[in-house]
Amino acid sequence: AADPVKLPLDNPQAKALAYVEKAGDSQHANYKAGSNCANCNFIQGAEGEAWRPCQLFPGFLVANEGWCSAWAKKP
Ligand code: SF4
Repeated sequence: AADPVKLPLDNPQAKALAYVEKAGDSQHANYKAGSNCANCNFIQGAEGEAWRPCQLFPGFLVANEGWCSAWAKKP
């Protein structure tokens, strides 16, 4: 399998979910300060890594400090 690559901002699903690489840049109505990929239920990989797999974007890496509208609090 190919190495995962950084999720392109123009990926259709990324655009549909308003993904951003810096959570604080989000203009989305549902964005809440303090939420980001690192504390999302769907993040995978190692804590603290800058780029990590996400269950919603197979084959890609998302920014640890990113955000999208599918964000759900890690239990
Ligand atoms: Fe980040 Fe969660 Fe969206 Fe994946 S689902 S891109 S971890 S906010």
